[in-house]
Amino acid sequence: MVHDGNCIFCKIVAGESPCSKVYEDDFVVCFMDIYPASRGHVLIATKEHFDDVVAISDGPIRAVGSATRKMARAINQTLAPDGISVVQANGTAAGQTVIHYHVHVLPRTTGVKLRLHGPRQAQKAELDEVSADLAGALDSD
Ligand code: 5GP
Ligand code: ZN
Repeated sequence: MVHDGNCIFCKIVAGESPCSKVYEDDFVVCFMDIYPASRGHVLIATKEHFDDVVAISDGPIRAVGSATRKMARAINQTLAPDGISVVQANGTAAGQTVIHYHVHVLPRTTGVKLRLHGPRQAQKAELDEVSADLAGALDSD
């Protein structure tokens, strides 16, 4: 499995950097975005390092799809937002800032414009609380 020692998401996957984890399987880790655009903003990152949607292989991207559904259901059950956006950026021109494949799952509020990056870094305790709530609402399938 490719692991890039300079990549922040590879460090999170390896447990070398902390995160507020919601869920993991053989292919992905789901954790809270440290600069949440809204409460419950989850990132789904592959365990293996792929730069983007062009580089990712089939097994991991299927697992991302399945995890996306899990996260969306947990968000709906826990936070009951007005909507949920699923967004994935490829390349700096597209707004990708961490070059390790990941998907944003974003709770949305009616009338609030979509953005991927929040204005401030969240407290770890705050993120741990949301991740625990989401983890407690995960479907078994
Ligand atoms: P991108 O801009 O590449 O689509 O999204 C990268 C996301 O990763 C950003 O929303 C940013 O807040 C988040 N992020 C960057 N560094 C860290 C980190 O160390 N921990 C966590 N949990 N999120 C991070
Ligand atoms: Zn990486």
